[in-house]
Amino acid sequence: MTAHDPSLGRPGGLLGWLGLGPRPHEAEATAPPPPAPLRERRQSLRERQLDEISAFLAAHHLEVTAQTLSIAHSYLTSADPHLVRLIDRQVQARKPVTLEWLDEVFLRSGSEDELKTLAELMQRLEASIDEFGKTSQDARTATSEYHSALEEHVGELEQVTAAGAVISELASIAKVMLRRTRDIEKQMLRSEAQTRALKRRLEEARRSAEEDHLTGLPNRRAFETRFEQEYREAFAAAEPLCIAFCDIDHFKQINDGHGHDAGDRVLKLVADSLARISNARCHVARHGGEEFVLLFRDTPVAEAYAKLDQLRETLAARRLVNRATDQPFGQITFSGGVADAFAFPDRRSALKAADTALYRAKQSGRNRIELATMEDGKWVEPDAA
Ligand code: GH3
Ligand code: MG
Ligand code: MG
Repeated sequence: MTAHDPSLGRPGGLLGWLGLGPRPHEAEATAPPPPAPLRERRQSLRERQLDEISAFLAAHHLEVTAQTLSIAHSYLTSADPHLVRLIDRQVQARKPVTLEWLDEVFLRSGSEDELKTLAELMQRLEASIDEFGKTSQDARTATSEYHSALEEHVGELEQVTAAGAVISELASIAKVMLRRTRDIEKQMLRSEAQTRALKRRLEEARRSAEEDHLTGLPNRRAFETRFEQEYREAFAAAEPLCIAFCDIDHFKQINDGHGHDAGDRVLKLVADSLARISNARCHVARHGGEEFVLLFRDTPVAEAYAKLDQLRETLAARRLVNRATDQPFGQITFSGGVADAFAFPDRRSALKAADTALYRAKQSGRNRIELATMEDGKWVEPDAA
């Protein structure tokens, strides 16, 4: 969009809506010649986009800032499916889309972007370290072979008694070289050990970047990699794969009533109880906030549903107390949505289906698990919404 863009000056456009565009008669005075059909279509598309952005900001009582404009644009063009999901759910749950809430969402996705960049950097660093390790090992082998050869020749030189001063000079130079090569070998060994230590530390850093520090569960980034891998493998092996979302019910009330630290403890407790079923066939991760995601490999959807429902029932039956204050937390429950990953055209629709099923569970009263239907996997175009 440029300052010369004629759509900006039209009364129906964003600037018009803000009362900043030229008045209608000014627009008429500088009206361009009749546009070509393609240009007209582009212009009307731009106008429609601007109107939609205006309507979006107005509907959510959001100020016009670079951030809110970019959010509105990403939402309306579905450029960021995760953001679309979050906003749709917020709207479905009849919760306001405020700047504070958006900030929280952006803060989270920003740190995820940083994690992604970090992971890529670490991968490159790891490759360089591997290469360096191999080079230094090759160099050490070469030095060691050179040393042995030299050692053999020094012995021979020393046995040549009639050789005189030149030979003995050569022998002493060779001896110095022997010492040097020995030192180089030692240095090479040290640098190989350092390379191994660096690799270990990198591995630890990678694990920590993929782990959620509060619950110790894999985080969303780790989950996405895992989902991609399991989906591919399960598809190739013709095995069932299910995905489930869980979200703690009325968690905000726990924070509001007992404080954030107590909220953290409850989050950890729910994470631990979900993690109890995690094994080689079941992966549990924290998707963000008070939301978890589970992958059931080689598990039919009815079985995945039953397992999750059992977890729900067990947690709901407990009566938890805030150990810092002895105040009861009351019943802690979660709602869930389960989808058969291969009942939908792709991974993204399967995720969407499980998420929509979760929100149906919320709307039907919470503390329940819903199975995803085909409709749940369909994306609603912003125009049709
Ligand atoms: P619903 O049943 O509809 O899911 O209601 P809710 O209150 O659980 O959902 P809502 O999205 O309104 O609030 C979620 C709250 O979870 C808001 C956020 O501050 C809190 N939260 C997110 N992450 C953490 C965390 O790591 N620790 C704590 N203590 N709170 C968190
Ligand atoms: Mg919740
Ligand atoms: Mg939530």
